[in-house]
Amino acid sequence: MNVQTCVFCKIIAGQIPCTKVYENDAVLAFLDIGPISDGHTLVVPKAHTPRVDKTDSHTMAALAQALPMLADAVQQAVGADGYNILCNNGLSAGQIVEHVHLHIVPRKKNDGLFNQWPSFQYPQGKAGAIAEKIIQNLNLSRVRP
Ligand code: 5GP
Ligand code: ZN
Repeated sequence: MNVQTCVFCKIIAGQIPCTKVYENDAVLAFLDIGPISDGHTLVVPKAHTPRVDKTDSHTMAALAQALPMLADAVQQAVGADGYNILCNNGLSAGQIVEHVHLHIVPRKKNDGLFNQWPSFQYPQGKAGAIAEKIIQNLNLSRVRP
């Protein structure tokens, strides 16, 4: 998926309609066409970028900057008790549109969404080993000073 074929780029360019709720220079927010709860909103950067690890920190910061205001408005609009912020990255994580985006999913008590959270405990030593590998892979130059 590239800028030419990307459905979100087409929405940003006005070639595909959307139900817009907010826009600034860097981001666009609109209702998801296939919501999993009333008010389910997508927040996307205007610059095409496929997923979080391929995205510069300025673009991610622009998304984060708009998020508190949007989450507040979405939650109030539908009288939700809370919301999930989701960001699927890669096929295995359920990403369908390869243009980085945040889902704001309004939640209500007993709404039945995301009932499964298959947590487990690490065997002795495994958490430390994984953490060590993560630390070795940190590219600190990607973090904005
Ligand atoms: P993903 O699984 O990639 O995180 O989710 C992509 C989301 O984009 C889905 O929830 C899907 O319903 C939404 N979506 C896909 N195409 C369109 C579209 O043309 N318009 C809008 N508003 N949402 C879309
Ligand atoms: Zn795109």
